[in-house]
Amino acid sequence: MEKIKIVIAGPRGRMGKEAVKMVHSIDNFELVSVIDHKHDGKMLNELVDFTQYGNTPVFSNIEECLQKSGADVLVDLTTPEFGYIHTKTALQYGVRPVVGTTGFTEDQLKELKTLAEEKDIGCIIAPNFAIGAVLMMKFSQIAAKYFNNVEIIELHHDQKLDAPSGTAIKTAEMISSVREKKEQGHSNEKETITGARGANKDGMHIHSVRLPGLIAHQQVLFGADGQGLTIRHDSYNRASFMSGVKLSIETVMNVGTLIYGLENIID
Ligand code: NAP
Repeated sequence: MEKIKIVIAGPRGRMGKEAVKMVHSIDNFELVSVIDHKHDGKMLNELVDFTQYGNTPVFSNIEECLQKSGADVLVDLTTPEFGYIHTKTALQYGVRPVVGTTGFTEDQLKELKTLAEEKDIGCIIAPNFAIGAVLMMKFSQIAAKYFNNVEIIELHHDQKLDAPSGTAIKTAEMISSVREKKEQGHSNEKETITGARGANKDGMHIHSVRLPGLIAHQQVLFGADGQGLTIRHDSYNRASFMSGVKLSIETVMNVGTLIYGLENIID
């Protein structure tokens, strides 16, 4: 079987490093180049942390990279600004993007979807590549049909800028699509300290914890008369996201549209 030729943008980042390691560990994958805005013209094994890897060229310019590398797939793990430019350019070059970078706008997603369909190639954008997190969301959606009292607690490292997390919002949306609408808590409840009951999304309350030492965690708590059900997922390190990146690389080769969210490629 022919190997899938892969370019990784953002190889020095926390996610990028894991992605380089994962791609090297899969027989069917070949890392043909990387995009790094600070090390144009070098080889990957000249960079700190990558000395064990082979002679993979480093480019800062994505167009030059895609013209020279013959890549099938671009994996982007950078920043919203560059992630969007990289994804759009890859689609224009007929290279299939797998994007973990978060923070794309609705308009950008629409534009990228149109472009992927015009080109008839796949593009997968997943704000959470942890398969367990996707299962947590799916299981919560099933439970919400039977338990309509639910609160969400998401816990992340203290460098995270947005709250609540995209995963918590997505979980609430998935629950809302099936649960009988309900405003959570007592109808006369009052916060004696503002924010005590957390954010309110469709009547569900979402609580955001930020502490050093954490990576990405979430629990969904359901309550009913005399019983409770807690569904919890923990990402203990960034390797937890790599099985989702691998699955997305394999899947993107066989679709002709943009897929947003790993939940849409897991049966
Ligand atoms: P990070 O450690 O800050 O890494 C980002 C990397 O991108 C840095 O090495 C940065 O280099 C590089 N970069 C910035 N602009 C670039 C450009 N134009 N070309 C090439 N490289 C560029 O962040 P991270 O934790 O790895 O996260 C990366 C992205 O993935 C973020 O958007 C984050 O929210 C997202 N994320 C997604 C998931 C998921 O499951 N989908 C999980 C965790 C994180 P410099 O530092 O030298 O500028």
